[in-house]
Amino acid sequence: MNNLRKIAEICNTSADFNGKILFDEPMRERTTFKIGGPAELFIEPADEKSLMFVLNELHALKLPVFILGGGSNLVVSDKGIEGCTLSVAALKGIRFDGACLHCQAGTSFDEILDFCILQGLGGLENFAGLPGSAGGAVYMNARCYEKSISDVLAGAEYLCGTKAQDKKHYGMNAADWDYKKSPFMAMHGSGAQPLILSASFKVYRDEPARIKQKCAEYMEDRERKGHFRYPSAGSVFKNNRAFGKPSGQIIDEAGLRAFRIGDAQIAPWHGNFIVNLGNASADNIKELTAQIRTEVKKKNGFELECEIIFCGK
Ligand SMILES: Cc1cc2nc3c(=O)[nH]c(=O)nc-3n(C[C@H](O)[C@H](O)[C@H](O)COP(=O)(O)OP(=O)(O)OC[C@H]3O[C@@H](n4cnc5c(N)ncnc54)[C@H](O)[C@@H]3O)c2cc1C
Repeated sequence: MNNLRKIAEICNTSADFNGKILFDEPMRERTTFKIGGPAELFIEPADEKSLMFVLNELHALKLPVFILGGGSNLVVSDKGIEGCTLSVAALKGIRFDGACLHCQAGTSFDEILDFCILQGLGGLENFAGLPGSAGGAVYMNARCYEKSISDVLAGAEYLCGTKAQDKKHYGMNAADWDYKKSPFMAMHGSGAQPLILSASFKVYRDEPARIKQKCAEYMEDRERKGHFRYPSAGSVFKNNRAFGKPSGQIIDEAGLRAFRIGDAQIAPWHGNFIVNLGNASADNIKELTAQIRTEVKKKNGFELECEIIFCGK
């Protein structure tokens, strides 16, 4: 029996594990781009105890692990993902302690903002309509309407390495963060594998009606800008202040509006979005982003930096 089958059997037969275990799970079903081949083994623990259990087993067998949040910033390879894809999407929960909102990694911003409206807690409205999970937003240092996650984060609980015993607390230190950069990305870059378990956000008391109104305005703006018209992973390139204009405008000015490879197209209504018109492959997206970078470099001299993450085999 190979090690993936071994892990599946251990989880399936243990009273310490609850959750989903699937072989060859198509990642197009689990990403907002609707792109990606199969995850060899897909595990979605139902709770933190099950997550700890499976992490210890994965660690013991030294299996490669890819951590999946809401899948809203990813282009998964057409060949799929090797080893175990560990989804934190089922780890949900929100608790307010009088000062901070503690959200488990898999909690979505829709759920967080519904809670904020109900409890009269302000400060997170800018993130209304942000797809994906709390953990993914912390990892990416998501930024919406001039507010970054690092502006509202008080701290996080995380694991480093894939051993459950390595649970750590991250206390907010602004020096660790930059535009669309987090210390968790930096840890990843240096070979460690951080898994964010929960995030604590700073909030304040406010009128539910006012919070609801602000959220609705941000949502309407996203709708107006066509964010949800077709499957995508949001903005493809980071905005670089040194370029003096947004990446979408730079792409438009390079004459690339609506340029298409296969079913991957630069959204005619948003230069920095690539949309999947139906059957786009990860290779189509890769090729299109490469061509955009080359054309922009040739015409304006700017080096666009990808925000979307290419992963898998
Ligand atoms: C329509 C649309 C609009 C968008 N608008 C915005 C926007 O306004 N601003 C913005 O910043 N982004 C935007 N995005 C991009 C995306 O929603 C964000 O980057 C989001 O925060 C990613 O979260 P996720 O849970 O989906 O992460 P995923 O896509 O699942 O993963 C992204 C990365 O984070 C890692 N990761 C995920 N969860 C964890 C965890 N718990 N622990 C450790 N690592 C983890 C993954 O391994 C991966 O490397 C948009 C996307 C779409 C589709």
